[in-house]
Amino acid sequence: MAHRVTLIPGDGIGPELAEATRRVLDASGVGFEWEVVDAGEAVMERYGTPLPDHVLESIRRNKIAIKGPITTPVGEGFRSVNVTLRQTLDLYANLRPARSIKGLESRYEDVDLVIVRENTEDLYAGIEHRVGRDAAESIKIITREASERIARFAFDYAVANGRRKVTAVHKANIMKLSDGLFLESCRTVAAEYEGRVEFEDRIVDNMCMQLVQKPELYDVLVLPNLYGDIVSDLAAGLVGGLGVAPGANIGADEAVFEPVHGSAPKYAGQNKANPTAMILSGALMLRHLGEPVAAQRVEDAVRDVIAEGRTITYDLGGTAGTREFGEAVAERLAVVPAASA
Ligand code: NAD
Repeated sequence: MAHRVTLIPGDGIGPELAEATRRVLDASGVGFEWEVVDAGEAVMERYGTPLPDHVLESIRRNKIAIKGPITTPVGEGFRSVNVTLRQTLDLYANLRPARSIKGLESRYEDVDLVIVRENTEDLYAGIEHRVGRDAAESIKIITREASERIARFAFDYAVANGRRKVTAVHKANIMKLSDGLFLESCRTVAAEYEGRVEFEDRIVDNMCMQLVQKPELYDVLVLPNLYGDIVSDLAAGLVGGLGVAPGANIGADEAVFEPVHGSAPKYAGQNKANPTAMILSGALMLRHLGEPVAAQRVEDAVRDVIAEGRTITYDLGGTAGTREFGEAVAERLAVVPAASA
């Protein structure tokens, strides 16, 4: 039976990446029925909002979506569609694996990290205001409920995926109350998993240095929203850059899969950007849909094409276009039959 999935192409480089990703997923041996809906600036004029109700309804109906990046105006203009989507659907867990890819030049060969970022609160709560003309205030919200929920997600993920350790990342030495509560919540949950998954914590600045120097010491990291955003880009940098970093936003009812990177407007419409991150987000989606064999085949096909090095995009040192890379991965899937996976 085909899986019905909401596809939001996004803007900037999004539509090109979405096309390549759809081509690969359609070649994965799993049946899909795509419900394509648009969000972002392009629909503002028509619907008066960058996130029309029918987009949310489509995701609620299908329970699953994959999206390209969507541009957020800086300073003024509408609020981030990406953040609004995560908060409205309560997609509380942002899962961002960062794993080395053979054949890809980077400082380390054996990075295998999973970033679990709290996705609904912290400074992303969107509560900020000007205080007079020359000052502004943003409120950081941390609750026990959301912190325990994300910690539990990280530990459950570790157990389900055979990972040995969870590291909580915080700045509780300075933000003693907010980050202190996050750390306390992680410790409470860690006690339930004692003997099954190791637990430790790191202060976020030290964590950044350690990840750059010895990433092999770390496994699953759990972080509040803002640190999670920043550290996941750092982790992407350890394995070849934003072009290869996939992600998932997971809630109790729905899940939305998307690359870590943004809409890179300067490359829009040039058939230049790397679709790997969105294709690998598609592989995460296949796992979520209960299709682990197809997911593995897609990941292997991406890795094979990159390792061959003949059809890779500019950011990985090649000259292939977005479309050509997607085509090469799809062809690889066609050559390696599903039964051999
Ligand atoms: P960005 O991730 O779009 O781009 C940063 C740089 O990374 C690019 O200039 C490019 O050099 C490289 N890059 C990113 N994706 C790539 C790819 N697939 N292939 C090759 N190179 C790639 O970050 P930005 O410039 O800070 O943000 C641009 C816009 O995207 C902003 O409006 C931002 O708000 C938005 N954004 C959206 C999302 C999302 O939709 N989830 C996430 C992050 C940023």
